[in-house]
Amino acid sequence: MANMINIPETCQPASIILKPKREKSLLNRHPWVFSGAIARTDGQPRPGDTVDVLTADGRWLTRGAYSPQSQIRVRAWSFDQAQAIDTGFFDKRLQRALDLRRQLLADTDTNANRLVAGESDGLPGLIVDRYDCWVVCQFLSAGTERWKSIIVECLDHLVPNLIGIYERSDVDIRKKEGLVPATGRLSGAEPPDQVDIRENGCRYRVDVKGGHKTGFYLDQRDNRACVAVYAKGADMLNAFAYTGGFAVAALRAGAAHVVNIDSSASALDLARTHVALNGLDSARVDHVIGDVFSLLRRYRADDRSFDVIVLDPPKFVNAKSDLMRASRGYKDINRLAFELLRPGGTLFTFSCSGLMGRDLFQKIVADAALDAGRHALILHWLNQSPDHPTALNFPEGSYLKGLVCRVV
Ligand code: SAH
Repeated sequence: MANMINIPETCQPASIILKPKREKSLLNRHPWVFSGAIARTDGQPRPGDTVDVLTADGRWLTRGAYSPQSQIRVRAWSFDQAQAIDTGFFDKRLQRALDLRRQLLADTDTNANRLVAGESDGLPGLIVDRYDCWVVCQFLSAGTERWKSIIVECLDHLVPNLIGIYERSDVDIRKKEGLVPATGRLSGAEPPDQVDIRENGCRYRVDVKGGHKTGFYLDQRDNRACVAVYAKGADMLNAFAYTGGFAVAALRAGAAHVVNIDSSASALDLARTHVALNGLDSARVDHVIGDVFSLLRRYRADDRSFDVIVLDPPKFVNAKSDLMRASRGYKDINRLAFELLRPGGTLFTFSCSGLMGRDLFQKIVADAALDAGRHALILHWLNQSPDHPTALNFPEGSYLKGLVCRVV
């Protein structure tokens, strides 16, 4: 019988030959080969096929997935020439990723987390999140698309207590890989519209089929716990609240009152549900649908003030050319937040734009405090939670950064 999956596990891979002196990043084990570095292709690889990448003088560098439509023409699977790219390879890489998360979440009351973080887990373009007994995947590259059925099979036997695997590859970056959006059941049962999860004692309900990303901002888990430390007795403003993750953590820790602001009515509906789900008093929370930029101005005009403010805006920088405009946006909301903070108050300010560097972000926040006439101290630098790790050879994997500033 012919192999139905039609994956050339044993064929001689095509070769990508780099231009002279373009091998440095691969020697540093950065997993991307840009189209501009390529001199020629020997063979006729199809999208997602495994190719070998060689220096101009024929030295072997890496084996990766070919993506003819993308500027990132090859994404490295392995830097070991003896490593075949086959079912066993995916099984091992996934096992390694899952082992790390098992250790990270041992002894916590948390059953939702990222299982696979793409390049940083040695699986470029693959995102896998777990919500209790459900797994939600994004296949963001030609290579992961090609190996989808194998990856799903591996997850099926590696993830304990699994009921179903669902695909949420409904993201624009697939276009750059020549892929169309894809969503739906991949294995097992179809998840319900809302999946209940636990995170450090908080309960949340996640829309895995329609929510942002794969449904929930899992990357903020440790930062929600950090907000809880400062929340006791606080009057808190949670700007860009989405489904109120920070609000629940703060209220459970004893916050006096939280205002959740978001432009999405459906996100705030779920935020309201979360208050009840956690047995919290709804009188301690206001939900305001609107634009953060104008609402903060209105609060300033009304002389309102807060003890704790969380600013967790969406990604403002999608391309380097956005950086100036985005910087103005970050400075604007941070200045307003400093103006609204009471003396002794605490600001949690985030940027999830990978292209916004830490130094620049700190400078913007410092300028914002200065313009607001406030003096502030950095108490913590925050990051994405460790189930979203960053490989040292892939600094692009580090995208979420946050500062906790105390106004003195
Ligand atoms: N803090 C959230 C995640 C925030 S994601 C959490 O921990 O779960 C960013 C949110 O900002 C989204 O919910 C989006 O609807 C909202 N948003 C984007 N632009 C906005 C604006 N100008 N005013 C208010 N909300 C906005």
